[in-house]
Amino acid sequence: MRWEDFRRSDNVEDRRGQGGLGGGLGGGRVPGGRGGLGIGGLIIVGLIAWATGINPAVLIGGAEILMGGGGQSQQQQQPSQSANRGAPDDQLGQFAATVLAQTEDVWSEIFKQQGKTYKDPGMVLFSGSTRSGCGAAQSAMGPFYCPLDQKVYLDLSFFQEMKTRFRASGDFAAAYVIAHEVGHHVENQIGLLAKVQERQQQVSRAEANQLSVRVELMADCLAGVWANHADARFKILEDGDIEEALNAASAIGDDRLQKQSQGYAVPDSFTHGTSAQRVSWFKRGLQSGSLQQCNTFGSGNI
Ligand SMILES: [Zn+2]
Repeated sequence: MRWEDFRRSDNVEDRRGQGGLGGGLGGGRVPGGRGGLGIGGLIIVGLIAWATGINPAVLIGGAEILMGGGGQSQQQQQPSQSANRGAPDDQLGQFAATVLAQTEDVWSEIFKQQGKTYKDPGMVLFSGSTRSGCGAAQSAMGPFYCPLDQKVYLDLSFFQEMKTRFRASGDFAAAYVIAHEVGHHVENQIGLLAKVQERQQQVSRAEANQLSVRVELMADCLAGVWANHADARFKILEDGDIEEALNAASAIGDDRLQKQSQGYAVPDSFTHGTSAQRVSWFKRGLQSGSLQQCNTFGSGNI
C-alpha cells in the first residue's frame, strides 16, 4: 500500500504509554462531549447495555478473540494526563493517521454527493487499556468503535497480533481493520447503529447476534467501498494488497475463530459472520464502490 506521501489526520489522540485507564475520565473530562451525551447519559447507556448483555462498543472480532487474561484491568487508575493530539511521529502512528485521513476524504465526498455532511470520527491510540465512552477499553478486545463518543479505539500492537496469531499480515490488512471500524462510524452517522441496538434489546439472543452479523458485514462492505474510492483518488493499492485484506477478513471470521478456540463453530453465537461472508461483503464494496451495495439488512441478503 502506498501511504507515505499522503495527508495525516489530526483527529488522532495518542494515549500510548500513559498506562492504566488514564487519559479519559480521570480529570473529569467527558469522553463523547461532542456526541452531546453527558456523563449521566453515558452511565445510563452503559447500565442498559450491561443489563441486557449488549455492549455498545462495536468490536472487530468476538470480544474474546484476543483475551489473554481476565476481563478486568488490574491496573490502577492513573491521574489524567493531557493526551497528545494530532498525527504521532512514529511510523505506525503515522500510518494509522494517514488511513484515517483517507477515510475522512472518501466518506466526506460520498456523503456530500448524497447531500449529507460527514462528521469525522476520532481515533484513540492506546496501549494496554484506556477509558472509552463505552467503558474500559482493553487491548484484548481488539480494535473497536464506540458510537457514544464517536471514536475508534486502537492498540497498534493488534496488527502484530494479527500477524503472529492469525497469519494476517501486511499494511493493507491493517488499513482494512481501520476502514472497518470507520465503517461502523458511517453506520452510526446514518442512524443505523442506534436502530439496531434498540431492536437487539427486544429480541432473543440468537436474533440479536444475527443483527450484529449484519452490522459487521456492512462494515466490511463499507471498508471495501472506502478501498475502491481511496484507490481511485490516491492510487494506494499495490500488488498483493487486496489479498492481504481478504486474508485478514477471512482470518477473523466467527467460524474460523471459534474453531481455533474451541474446535467447533456455533452459528447462533456468531456476531460477525463467517470468513466466507466477510470476504464476500468486503469484495462487494470494493468492486462496486457503492454504499447502496452494502445493504446487509435486506431479506435474504446474507
Ligand atoms: Zn466491527
